[in-house]
Amino acid sequence: MSSSEPEPLTRRDFCFLTSIVPDLPGPTIDETPTFKASSPLDYGRHESKKIEILPGSTSDLFRIIPTEIIVKILSMLDLQSLTDLRRVSWGVRAIVNTIPAYKDLMKYSPDTVRALLSTETAIYSTPQDILDELCRQDCFICGDFGPLLDTITGRRCCVDCATFSQLMRSIEISSAELRGLNETTIRKLRTVHTLRTERYRVQPRQQLVRFVEAKKVAVELGKARGFNFVECFTLSTSDHLRRFLPLLRFPTLDKRSGRLGWGVSCKACDRSLRILSHRKEEPKLNVHYTVSGYIEHFKHCKDSQLNRDNAKLFAEIKAATEDIVSRLQRLTGGLQRLTREL
Ligand SMILES: [Zn+2]
Ligand SMILES: [Zn+2]
Repeated sequence: MSSSEPEPLTRRDFCFLTSIVPDLPGPTIDETPTFKASSPLDYGRHESKKIEILPGSTSDLFRIIPTEIIVKILSMLDLQSLTDLRRVSWGVRAIVNTIPAYKDLMKYSPDTVRALLSTETAIYSTPQDILDELCRQDCFICGDFGPLLDTITGRRCCVDCATFSQLMRSIEISSAELRGLNETTIRKLRTVHTLRTERYRVQPRQQLVRFVEAKKVAVELGKARGFNFVECFTLSTSDHLRRFLPLLRFPTLDKRSGRLGWGVSCKACDRSLRILSHRKEEPKLNVHYTVSGYIEHFKHCKDSQLNRDNAKLFAEIKAATEDIVSRLQRLTGGLQRLTREL
């Protein structure tokens, strides 16, 4: 292959060479069909708790203070508090719905809000936090493009870091308690309630906490011994699942065009990685790209270039074969007519 730049990709090449269905190695929240139905987001259908309105408090305040100021104040609240507030009355719901970031989030990615509520992680992020993340593209750990949202941190993450980074390892709360952390300490840490998933037969919901966060607190309390990394994970078969259960497929938003993108992966690289029997430092597993990111990748991906050349050649051979077949058919027809006339 020549070292010069390959011919630019056509739209057809792009679709042929990339995959938009991620080949994720674990179950994410959006794979659980019940995550929408179980979300306490909308219209009181799935109310989990009632909000008491004290006389002379909330309702009156909403009447006295100008709406713009209320919207500004409410913008600082987390998604869980806003969802709870929406249940107070139709009027309050209408005000919450006008918060710019909340409105945008519900317009472009309502499933993200549903997932955060279903996993009880909506308390950690404001609508603006998640909207900022939606408009961002980079993984919070390595900086590459990330097609997943980590509900615990509310940050975007790539498949490789989700699969291999130590920062993404979680343990169950019960395990953290067994290792010396008490309930009060654990309550200060970010946790996620995972959903039931059929795919890996993860039936009971689990409450997870990140291992590094739990260990940090344990070290401060002088209980680091219980958080021996090897002991915690060497024999754990569920480590891999627990990495993915707090994650959600997460699009990117181009705010100027209002377009959502889900990222693409390179079919050629994915295929060659699948046949590797062991983990290598490079290349990364299941890398996702933005459209421009893939176009750049294509310039260096010899396998993709070869696949395109082969596809082109195949299309040419197919067209030539079809041409020959149609000529032969015409010739046969002519010969048959001629035979009949004779
Ligand atoms: Zn990453
Ligand atoms: Zn590639």
